Amino acid sequence: KNDQLDQWDRENLFHPSTHLAQHRRGESANRIVTGGSGAHIEDRDGNKLLDAFAGLYCVNVGYGRPEIADAIAAQAKELAYYHAYVGHGTEASITLAKMILDRAPKNMSKVYFGLGGSDANETNVKLIWYYNNILGRPEKKKIISRWRGYHGSGLMTGSLTGLELFHKKFDLPLTQVLHTEAPYYYRRENLDQTEEQFVEHCVAKLEELIEREGADTIAAFIGEPILGTGGIVPPPKGYWEAIQKVLKKHDILLVADEVVTGFGRMGTMMGSDHYGIEPDLITIAKGLTSAYAPLSGSIVGDKMWDVFEKGTDEFGPIGHGWTYSAHPIGAAAGIANLKLIDELNLVQNAGEVGTYLNEQMHAALDDHPHVGNIRGEGMMCAVEFVKDKDSRTFFDPSQKIGPQIAGALMEKKVIGRAMPQGDILGFAPPFCLTKAEADEVVSKTADVVKAMDFS
Ligand code: PLP
Repeated sequence: KNDQLDQWDRENLFHPSTHLAQHRRGESANRIVTGGSGAHIEDRDGNKLLDAFAGLYCVNVGYGRPEIADAIAAQAKELAYYHAYVGHGTEASITLAKMILDRAPKNMSKVYFGLGGSDANETNVKLIWYYNNILGRPEKKKIISRWRGYHGSGLMTGSLTGLELFHKKFDLPLTQVLHTEAPYYYRRENLDQTEEQFVEHCVAKLEELIEREGADTIAAFIGEPILGTGGIVPPPKGYWEAIQKVLKKHDILLVADEVVTGFGRMGTMMGSDHYGIEPDLITIAKGLTSAYAPLSGSIVGDKMWDVFEKGTDEFGPIGHGWTYSAHPIGAAAGIANLKLIDELNLVQNAGEVGTYLNEQMHAALDDHPHVGNIRGEGMMCAVEFVKDKDSRTFFDPSQKIGPQIAGALMEKKVIGRAMPQGDILGFAPPFCLTKAEADEVVSKTADVVKAMDFS
C-alpha cells in the first residue's frame, strides 16, 4: 500500500536525524503516519500505536483535538498572517503573550515569539549578548551549558547541545560555548559519593570553569530543568539551588530551557516551579501549542527587559526579527491548547499518571540484571540498560541495545525512544495518558526487555 509514497519518500525527502544511506537504499523501515487520537497514532498500513513519546515530547494534549484544529481554521479564515514588527499585533498573539506570562514564574516581563525551540534559544543568546553590550561589558559573552544538555540544532544551539553527535563533522561547538558536568548521579565517576556530595562536585566543576575562564567573560548558564534528550535525567536533590548560588555570585544569567518541561510535563505549570528555578530567560516551544502549529517563545525577565528599554532609548530599535514571529495561526493554536490543558486538568494528570508510570516501571523491571537505572519525574521516564549492574558498564555501542529494544517495543505497537547517547529507552507520553495506557507501556516494555538477548 505504501509503495508509491515509500519510493517518493526515499527519493525526495531529506529526513532529520536519520542514517541517510540506509534510508535511501531502503534498508530501514519507513512509517507514513496518517492520523491520531488521544495517545495513539495510526499509519497508512492500518497500525494503531500507543505513542508513549508524544511525537517528540510535544503533543502534550494528545492527538486529534478538534478544539485546537477549529481555532487554527478560524484564525486562518479571519487573518492567516500579519507580522509583529514595529508594534503590530494580532488579537491572538497579544492574548497568548498574556496567557503565557500569567503561567510563568515571577519576575518575567515579555514574550518574544519564534517558531521552534532552536530559534528561541538562538534568540536567547542574541538577547544575552545585546544585554551585556548595552551594559558596556562586551567581553562578558561566553555561555555555559552542560554535557548531555539539548538546546537545538542551529550553529549556536547545536553548540550549546552537549551531545557528540550534534558537534562532530560540523566544526562545533563555537568558541563562545563552554560545557560543564551533567548532573547525572547514576553516571558519577565516584560511586561512593552521596547525592549531596555529587551536587558539591558539580558545583566545584562549575566554579573551576568560571575561575579558569574568568567570570567577567561568562554571560549565562543554560540548562533544562530535567535533562531530556541527553537521557531523561532528573537533577539530584539540591542541584538547582546550589547552581543558582554560584551564578548569582558571578553575575551570570540563567536560561531555563523549558521546551520540554513548559506547560505541565513535570506535573507543575513550568519545570522551574517544580525545581525552584528563578530564571532570567525561559525557552518555550513544543508544549506551547502541543505541536498543533510551530510556535516558540523566549520569556524575558524584568532584569533584562529594563536594560533593553534603556538600550533602545539610546541605540534605536533592536535588530532582531523573524517574519513569522508571533504568527497568528500558531498563536491561535497556543491559546486553544493552554485552555484545553486547564479545562481537562492535564497538568495534574501529567503529575499523577507520570508518577504511576514511573512506579510501575520500577516494580516491573528493577530486578532485571541488565536494567541499571530507572528514573524520571512528572510525565517522563527512562530505563537505562547496562552490561553489568554493579560496575554499570556500557554495552558496546555496536550492539545497539537501546535501538533494538525500542524497535521490538514498536513491533508491540508502543512507541518509546532510544535516546541518542547510551542505551536508554525514554518515555514522555501525552498528558492525557490513562493509567490503563501506562500499564500497557510498562507491561509491553517488560515483555520486550525479558525477551531480549543481551549477550
Ligand atoms: N530545547 C530542548 C530542551 C529540546 O528538547 C529541544 C528539542 O527537542 C529544543 C530545544 C529544540 O527545539 P526544536 O527542535 O523545536 O528546534
